[in-house]
Amino acid sequence: MSLHKLDMPSETTLILFKPDCMEKNLGGVVLQRFMAADLSIQGIKLMQLTEELLNDHYAHIAEYPFFPKLKEFMQRKPVLALALQGENAIQKVRDILGPTDSTTAPKGTIRGDFGESSMFNICHASDSTESAAIELKRFFEPTELYGV
Ligand code: ADP
Repeated sequence: MSLHKLDMPSETTLILFKPDCMEKNLGGVVLQRFMAADLSIQGIKLMQLTEELLNDHYAHIAEYPFFPKLKEFMQRKPVLALALQGENAIQKVRDILGPTDSTTAPKGTIRGDFGESSMFNICHASDSTESAAIELKRFFEPTELYGV
């Protein structure tokens, strides 16, 4: 039996428009791609990220040599944090974004169209149900999220 559209779970995922996205004034273009995919905004705010928050958020890659440069990049300008909700939102957003390395990301994906490299890749998006729950808490107060 095929999975009917209505059977897909509604999920909420955490997106960050990284400093390169903000510097290139791509916020509107990128948001339009998510809106066109039937995702709705449940939370949105500008945030200047701190060293402490980035140590938590990127703990899984803290051992890599590029980590200090990544933290510097992520603090270069305030990021736009969004909570987006919709059917299958976590995987859907990752598909729209494309793989980490922008140079190999297919054209038509956000990273393939606008990213420059593995580091400067326009957006962050949660990669699983577990990380979405943790990351939504990390970036938003409960009172800043609507309908989640
Ligand atoms: P993703 O953001 O696609 O989930 P990761 O969690 O592996 O990827 O990495 C987090 C972020 O670290 C990436 O989005 C990117 O900004 C940076 N990064 C990952 N790999 C590299 C790399 N090889 N060189 C430079 N920066 C990297």
